[in-house]
Amino acid sequence: KIDMLDFISNEKRTHYAGNLQKTNVGETVTVMGWVHRRRDLGGLIFIDLREVSGTVQIVFNPENEEVHAKAGKLRNEYVIAVTGKILAREGGNINRNMTTGEIEIEAKSLLLLNKSEPLPVQINENVLADENLRLKYRYLDLRREKLKNILLLRHEIVSAIREFLTAERFFEIETPVLMKSTPEGARDYLVPSRVHNGKFFALPQSPQIYKQLLMIGGFDRYFQIARCFRDEDLRADRQPEFTQLDMEMSFVTQAEIFDIMERLFKFIFKKTINVDLQIPFPQLPYKESMRRFGCDKPDCRFGMELIDLSEIVANSEFKVFSGALQNAGSVRCVVAKDCATYSRKQIDGLTDIAKHLGGKGLAFVKYQEGDLQAGISKFLSDEEKKNIIKKSGAENGDLILFAADSNKIVFKVLAEIRNHFGRELKLYNPKEYNIVWITDFPLFEYNDDANRWETAHHMFTLPKKEHLKYFDNEADYAKIEGQLYDMVCNGMELSSGSIRCHNIDIQRKIFDVLGFAEEELNDKFGFFLNALKYGTPPHGGIAPGIDRMIMIMTGAE
Ligand code: ASP
Repeated sequence: KIDMLDFISNEKRTHYAGNLQKTNVGETVTVMGWVHRRRDLGGLIFIDLREVSGTVQIVFNPENEEVHAKAGKLRNEYVIAVTGKILAREGGNINRNMTTGEIEIEAKSLLLLNKSEPLPVQINENVLADENLRLKYRYLDLRREKLKNILLLRHEIVSAIREFLTAERFFEIETPVLMKSTPEGARDYLVPSRVHNGKFFALPQSPQIYKQLLMIGGFDRYFQIARCFRDEDLRADRQPEFTQLDMEMSFVTQAEIFDIMERLFKFIFKKTINVDLQIPFPQLPYKESMRRFGCDKPDCRFGMELIDLSEIVANSEFKVFSGALQNAGSVRCVVAKDCATYSRKQIDGLTDIAKHLGGKGLAFVKYQEGDLQAGISKFLSDEEKKNIIKKSGAENGDLILFAADSNKIVFKVLAEIRNHFGRELKLYNPKEYNIVWITDFPLFEYNDDANRWETAHHMFTLPKKEHLKYFDNEADYAKIEGQLYDMVCNGMELSSGSIRCHNIDIQRKIFDVLGFAEEELNDKFGFFLNALKYGTPPHGGIAPGIDRMIMIMTGAE
């Protein structure tokens, strides 16, 4: 039996609830939304009506008997339409916490558009339900103010992107989602074809090849709010599908791309969250970033940089140090300010981090009473101690943590330890947005497990002109740097991009290094190599991750 509600109604909404102001006093309006809160004061009934624009207070007077009786039956999250007159609230009745707190609606009529069962998750901000439950009832969780605001901000950011790029003569163009694979270093998602038995479409890891084809097609400047799919293991900042602002430009230099991106970000931050970004963003060559921070996505909001002690301990009696150096590794440290008081247990925690990352352990000393004590101090000569103090800049009360291993492990471990202390010691201002460019990446990296060369970013990147000579000799491949760049914000990679190979011979050389056999090359990239033959303009691009951007801008995890 159908409960006779008012749900089939032709009532028209006249106003958004959250927009009502003192200037509307005296008007008769119709608002629609959910019963957010209900207070029954015996005589008067107060309802906070909520919808996307905000909340407004509605008052039901007992004199209006029929409507008042109906209001008495309302429960949280019932959906209603109310017509009534806007009254000004006076003195102590004004609610400064509500944007509509200076007015209320005196109800003349009430329609019950739908009922709601008691909610399985509360949408009260103060008592957050378990996350699994919130995800199961995502549509209810989205009614929460905080989540709503994040999605609305996302809309504003995307609108700002469109506004800015359109003014800069970019064209928004869509590219296919059921496609031929564009390798970007991850695994493809595949979709079986019904028509071509036994064959599969790939979902795009990014529209990389398409955007390059658009440049060959003469479109000059392209962008797309593009969905990308990568079948990768999940991590805190990774998910199977994500959205990029995908961009590509013809006849463009790296410096011009940086300039456009800096102005774009400045525009977005100002327009949507009223934050003034300082531009241009600093540039940090890859090698320097590794040396100072141990990684290519450094959080530059704080110091605690890595210090190379290799020279100082080259001939140390302490075999862990000298051994690492004999194996072409290094010995480096970080200094944790005022942490000499760390307990055994706390230091064990740090050692676990190091081991988890493939390190053998984490050596430490405490700078106390004017001397390096505890940990590995007994293995160090006085001379070594003196030099370590001098080079590291450590002071009384500090804890020094060492990694001695291959450079790869040393960097990995100390970068993570540094980030750990950044959080633990609150070394940065969580409200700061620190954006840096990382430049001059190597084009290739050797994959020891697979025994082959791989590209550090992707295989369509133009090498530096002065490094073309290194293609002649495999021993030199690691020296080849590409016109490759990342934009990093607060330790998170926000965008990657590059100037592309528009020359077929260089593109072929890159495929050679990667070890493609002719047949495989033709099968996978024949169409693309073919396209490069017909007057391809110089071009380059970049693709900021929109989800990560929103995470950073809203402080979400
Ligand atoms: N397609 C690249 C990526 O998804 C971005 C680019 O180089 O423009 O990382």
